[in-house]
Amino acid sequence: MTKIKQYKSPFEKFFSIILTFSLLFSTLISARADSAENNSELPMIEDVEENETYDVPDDCLTYLKVIGKKGDVDQNGELDSYDALLILRCSVGFKDIKKKFLKNADYDEDGQITSMDSLLTLVEYVNTQPPVIKFPDLTVACGDRFYFDAKIVPPSEGIGVTFEYETDDAESTDGSGEWVLDFTNTGKVKAHHPGKSVVTVTASNGLTAKCTVTVVDQITKQTIHVGDNTLNVTKHIMTKNDAYNETDDFERLDGIVIHSTATPGVMADRWYAAWNKPNTDAAVHAFLDDKGVYQYLPFEQIAWHAGKPCNRTYIDFEICEPSGFYYSKNIMTDYDVKAQQDYFDKIWKNATVYTAYLCTEYGLSSDDILSHAEVGRLGIGTNHGDPDHWFIKHNKTMDDFRKEVKRLMNSGNIYISSPTVVEK
Ligand SMILES: [Zn+2]
Repeated sequence: MTKIKQYKSPFEKFFSIILTFSLLFSTLISARADSAENNSELPMIEDVEENETYDVPDDCLTYLKVIGKKGDVDQNGELDSYDALLILRCSVGFKDIKKKFLKNADYDEDGQITSMDSLLTLVEYVNTQPPVIKFPDLTVACGDRFYFDAKIVPPSEGIGVTFEYETDDAESTDGSGEWVLDFTNTGKVKAHHPGKSVVTVTASNGLTAKCTVTVVDQITKQTIHVGDNTLNVTKHIMTKNDAYNETDDFERLDGIVIHSTATPGVMADRWYAAWNKPNTDAAVHAFLDDKGVYQYLPFEQIAWHAGKPCNRTYIDFEICEPSGFYYSKNIMTDYDVKAQQDYFDKIWKNATVYTAYLCTEYGLSSDDILSHAEVGRLGIGTNHGDPDHWFIKHNKTMDDFRKEVKRLMNSGNIYISSPTVVEK
C-alpha cells in the first residue's frame, strides 16, 4: 500500500465565502428582474390568509405559508439554498410584510426580511450539510503527470483540509511487473503503466471515497505551430525502456541538447520498436525527421542521451540521418551533399521549429541550446561529434541553429494543438 500525505487547502474557507456571495449576488440580480415584472400581480401581505392559495409565482406563495423551522421557508423539511433564494426574492419584492409571515424567513430576528437573512440561511445551509468527498474517476495516458482532484463538498470549516491517499498499487496489464501509478512526495502522480488502480482518499473527519484511475498506453497526434510553420508530433511513450521505469523527474532544466543518430536511414517512427524494451542502454525524449517528431519519453523525466551531469538538467532530441551513405571509423562516407540537400533543408526547418517550441514551452532561450558535440567540449557529458559533423557538410553551425531558433521564437504565436488519439 502506498500512503501519501496530501495538500492542506487554505482556499476551502475562502472559496466557501466567495461561493456564498456570488450565489447571493446572482440571485439578487434575478430577483430584482423578476420582482419588477411580477409586483403588480402579487396580493398585498395584509390581504393574504395563511392557508389560501393565490395566483402568484409559486416561490412567493410558498413563502407566505411560512410556519415552523427557521429558514425552511418552503417547508420541505430541509434548509437549502432554495430557501435562501426565496428569502432574497421576498426581500426584494415585498417591502411591507406583516410580522406573522416573517417568522421563518427573518433569520436574524430584526423584524425585516433582508438579503442578510438570505445570506445567513445560505451560510447555515453550507455549515449544516453533511459533507461528501467528490473524487471523480480518471482516464490518463502512460507518462502523464497529474494531481488528484478530491474536494469536500460543500466546503466546510474544520473538515476536509487534509487528505491522505491510499492505492491498491495494482499491477500493470502489460506484463512489465510495474505499478500502474507512481506517487511523488509532493502529491503529484505519474500514470506509469497501463491498467486500473483504485485509489481511496480519506478526509480529516474520517470520510472516505474511491476513484478508479485507468491508465492507457496510447498514441496521440498533435500539431506544433510556430508563426506560419507547422510540425506534426506523434507521442507514444516507451514504457518498457529502462529509463522510463528508473529515472527521476527533472529538478531543474538548463537547456536542450541536439543530437543526430549516426544511424543512416532509420527514421523517427522506427525507434519505438528498437528501443522500447529493457536493457536498452539509451533513451531520448524524441526523434525528428523530415516528416515530423516522435516523442517517446515524458519531458518531465530524465533521459539517457549525453552522460552525466548533462542528462540531469537537459532535455534532448535526435535528428534522424538519411540513407545513402555509411560510417567508416566515425566518418560520414560517400555522403552526397547535393543529393541530401533537400532532406537536410527539411530537418533543419523541423528541428529549429521544434526547438523554438520547446524553448517557449519550458522557459528557455536560444542560448540554452547545445549540440552533443558542445556538451563534450564543455566537459558536462560524453564526447561525441553530433550533429555538428553533419551540419558542417551543409555549411551550417550550431550558432546558425541558435540564430534561427531565436528568429522563430520572435516570429509569432507558438502553441501546440490538443492531442487526438490514434488507433493502433
Ligand atoms: Zn548524440
